[in-house]
Amino acid sequence: MHHQSIKPLHTMTPNKMMYIDPHIHMTSRTTDDYARMSAAGIVAIIEPSFWLGQPRTEAGSFKDYFSSLLGWERFRASQFGIKHYCTIGLNSKEANNEALAEQVMELLPLFVCKEGVVGVGEIGYDDQTTAEDKYYRLQLDLAKEVGLPVQIHTPHRDKKAGTIRSMEVAMEHGVQPHMVIVDHNNEETVKDTLDRGFWAAFTIYPNSKMGNERMAEIVKQYGTERIIVNSAADWGVSDPLSVPKTASLMLDRGISAEDVRKVCYQNALDAFGQSGQMSESDWLQAVQVDQRDKFSDNSILRGGQEPFVGERKATGQIEDNIIR
Ligand SMILES: [Zn+2]
Repeated sequence: MHHQSIKPLHTMTPNKMMYIDPHIHMTSRTTDDYARMSAAGIVAIIEPSFWLGQPRTEAGSFKDYFSSLLGWERFRASQFGIKHYCTIGLNSKEANNEALAEQVMELLPLFVCKEGVVGVGEIGYDDQTTAEDKYYRLQLDLAKEVGLPVQIHTPHRDKKAGTIRSMEVAMEHGVQPHMVIVDHNNEETVKDTLDRGFWAAFTIYPNSKMGNERMAEIVKQYGTERIIVNSAADWGVSDPLSVPKTASLMLDRGISAEDVRKVCYQNALDAFGQSGQMSESDWLQAVQVDQRDKFSDNSILRGGQEPFVGERKATGQIEDNIIR
């Protein structure tokens, strides 16, 4: 009797570049995405805590969400040979429900020091309200206290002012720029972010302004120091392969492999590695994938599906070793 493993794991080709996507919301993505990401060479991801598209009404929903980032989601990623880390925080949108925000603030210290938490995030401003400002500041203090990097969500409206304000408030709270990753930069904000010594992350949105052509231009213009590429893929129209796709476009546009590696891998590792919770050895040694594994009695496989069991090598290559 012939069994087949889950197909996408087989499409791995050797000697691929390694990628890290330091901002992706996998709870809203499928196993197909994980398989494609693994095949494309993504070895590690960071999942920031965010809102779920509609506001939560109970603190318990936050608690379970944080637990799922540390538990089930990390397990799902591991089943595709991807190392999953997360940042824990109260997002800016839901900071506006102050009664709830107070309760969430009490939960955060219970989660930020857990294994695999590489930062406090994503936090910052959305509409730049007083409540957002209050909880942003409180979380900056928390990050400073526990010595974790901060992952900042910058507003989509009034972006430039909001981005500058985010950085100024961080410095006001004594959080050093090298400990802050400022997300969702664009051409308007990149210079301010880099000049102040912060990490400048860019989200590549498909069919939108901040596409990968523009990302290549930014790297050509500003170089690679402290610049990071991410997908911010979530439940909206987004692409979990934004990082590897941008990498290949940058190579096409004449950017060196070494530079591509910095913005699509090394800088994210350097920035979030400051947490002490993320190091290259986590994936450089061959990662054992065993899809027979279970988490709380749950497997990612459904009736009749054949598990993949084998090694995922750092180069983005899985050694074919399927049980028969
Ligand atoms: Zn996000």
